[in-house]
Amino acid sequence: MDDVPALRGDGGVRAVVVLTAAGSGSRLGHTVPKALVPVAGTPLVVHALRGLWASGVVDDVVVSVPAEHRDAFERAVRRAVDDATAVGVRAAARCVVGGPTRQASVAAGLDALAPRGPVTGAAATGDAAAAVAGDQPAPARVIVLVHDAARALTPPEVVVRVAEAVADGADVVVPVVPVTDSVVEVHDGVRAVDRARLRAVQTPQGFELGLLRRAHAAAAHRADDEATAATDDAQLCAVLGAETTLVPGHLDAVKVTTPRDLLLAEALVAARVASDGVPA
Ligand code: C5P
Repeated sequence: MDDVPALRGDGGVRAVVVLTAAGSGSRLGHTVPKALVPVAGTPLVVHALRGLWASGVVDDVVVSVPAEHRDAFERAVRRAVDDATAVGVRAAARCVVGGPTRQASVAAGLDALAPRGPVTGAAATGDAAAAVAGDQPAPARVIVLVHDAARALTPPEVVVRVAEAVADGADVVVPVVPVTDSVVEVHDGVRAVDRARLRAVQTPQGFELGLLRRAHAAAAHRADDEATAATDDAQLCAVLGAETTLVPGHLDAVKVTTPRDLLLAEALVAARVASDGVPA
């Protein structure tokens, strides 16, 4: 499965994305899945897709969705692709059924990535195109980003930063922001932790595709139980000894988890509309 051609051409970076959207909306107090909850009238998953496409470095997106809501996601994703394409944005996305945990949903998305990834536009030149034509073995490095639909308002610049760091040679790239609260550890008593040494981890996280597939294969036995599953993919790669490279994240990449986060997301979209005139 590692023979996907590198999605680079003419010096540009091209990445494929697994977008996790199979979580429930229970902590938001919604009966619909969280990724379909609207912010400014647009579902979170569509906000997330637009941010990815706006980066200009994304070739394809596989969205992991809950089985029982697959049709609703298919409709929302198809419409988002059509709307974006109509205004000249290069947009591609498709849905696969996720799993009982985030880790399982990422694994399902990775399985759905074609053994040979999409090679389009500038990337259809040079080494990658030759590899597709069978002239030479496919290059080993393909960039995959794993992103949470719940971080729907992640600015495109963060997506670019992560993809470029992988393209520049990093195996694992994680966007982070400083921790502003004072933090204590509560295992075996209460102990203060120096927050200057801490960072909060965001998505998208970026990987060399072969490495991420090996990491998920090695951890497959943990995937179906929330008590054992990994909450992010960099952790799984670290188990294999991969080094993590940090890049700056963004405060707008907040994970929408509670009704309060939804209020914040509404305010962020309203502020963007006011400053850019971009419709939500
Ligand atoms: O639940 P939490 O907010 O931590 O989920 C993080 C991301 O993982 C969300 O985008 C959610 O849709 C996704 N997820 C998933 N499959 C699950 C559980 C969560 O794709 N079984």
